[in-house]
Amino acid sequence: MPARRTHTRNDWLVVGSGLTGATFARCLAEEAGASVLVVDQRDHIGGNVFDSLDERGIRVQRYGAHIFHTGSADIFEYLSRFTDWYHYEHRVLADVDGQLVPVPFNFTSLDTLLPERSGALQQALLEAFPGTARIPVAQLARAATPQLRELGEYIAAAIFRNYTAKQWGRPIEQVDPTVLERVPVTLSYDDRYFRDEFQAIPAGGYTAMVEAILDHPLISVALQTDGATEHQRRPDARLLWTGRVDSFFDYRYGELPYRSLRFENTPGTRWRELPAAVVNHPGVEPFTRIIDHSYFAAEPTATTTLTYEYPAAYERGQNEPFYPVSDAISTAMYQKYAALADRTGVLFGGRLGDFRYYDMHQAVGRARTLADTVLHGRADPRTIARSIRRSA
Ligand SMILES: Cc1cc2nc3c(=O)[nH]c(=O)nc-3n(C[C@H](O)[C@H](O)[C@H](O)COP(=O)(O)OP(=O)(O)OC[C@H]3O[C@@H](n4cnc5c(N)ncnc54)[C@H](O)[C@@H]3O)c2cc1C
Repeated sequence: MPARRTHTRNDWLVVGSGLTGATFARCLAEEAGASVLVVDQRDHIGGNVFDSLDERGIRVQRYGAHIFHTGSADIFEYLSRFTDWYHYEHRVLADVDGQLVPVPFNFTSLDTLLPERSGALQQALLEAFPGTARIPVAQLARAATPQLRELGEYIAAAIFRNYTAKQWGRPIEQVDPTVLERVPVTLSYDDRYFRDEFQAIPAGGYTAMVEAILDHPLISVALQTDGATEHQRRPDARLLWTGRVDSFFDYRYGELPYRSLRFENTPGTRWRELPAAVVNHPGVEPFTRIIDHSYFAAEPTATTTLTYEYPAAYERGQNEPFYPVSDAISTAMYQKYAALADRTGVLFGGRLGDFRYYDMHQAVGRARTLADTVLHGRADPRTIARSIRRSA
């Protein structure tokens, strides 16, 4: 990033330079003329959307494949101030015993895996769910006919039972049921992964987009800087904390649980080597998916980099907290932290501060809502965080 003047006194301290912290800082600087110091403990901006060119000149997303998608024209237009886009529709395949089929499971998947019964099953699905584009696979388990319940069981076994167990490190019966309620089956030949109106990748990469968001004369950025230490040094600055909420309170009620990932990068041989950007592996192999990064570039590249994604237990200080593990115990623990947070003057946000999985557009939306409520005093932003959680 270009060197920038560091203000000696800041109105706001923002801990975390991910999409939440960067968007919030930009809103405060631009709309309120506030001077904002953004600090991050990592040696780069962008949080988990960070990407960079590797030794083969391929832009690699260091913390896993990120595809921007939203139904909100407002959020898409907001981010379009900071980037041009490569309009990209995401498609995912699953390797089911050597056969590659679209995910979400669709009519092509049926034709490939159950060719004899595909026609009858398609008809039964269309009759049971008329006018419906997608249904959660869990809904098949509750279907009226044994034929469709059996199909639900087949899809679960073929596509996601093992995959989900690998991802969460526990048998599927112990995984938060809302996860399974979100696994869709497409009732047509549509093979798009997302159905949102806006689907794209920043043409110059995510890091460049976040850099542009932070590029404002009233914003300064300090990397490899611990948020808690900086907070102590600047007691007068108001604080947005997008790090872990439990870490802010020294884990006094215990550690909120996360799952992590290990990424193994390997050189590919040609542009678009895999038949899709992501190939899921729901079998017994220890990795869950392979990513072909050349799909995310606007222009063809000479070669590619492939990333094997291995789910892993999260260990503080050893790897990254990626996915909040939601269950009765962690929810109760989070509620205690949220109650504590309410008694401070500090704002908490982002996927670590709210202990909630956000897609990128949700992180940006949440940051703008937080800024809006600070600027216009419409509501207490902490109340909004809780209502978002309740309605999820
Ligand atoms: C593997 C994976 C794939 C994903 N794929 C998609 C996708 O395809 N599409 C999509 O929309 N979303 C995707 N997401 C979600 C996306 O990554 C998030 O929406 C987004 O990164 C949230 O931004 P954030 O600012 O809230 O958090 P983060 O990006 O995590 O940023 C938080 C920042 O705070 C810093 N920090 C934490 N504690 C401290 C501290 N004490 N002091 C200083 N700094 C601190 C961290 O270093 C980090 O940089 C994916 C997430 C993961 C994990």
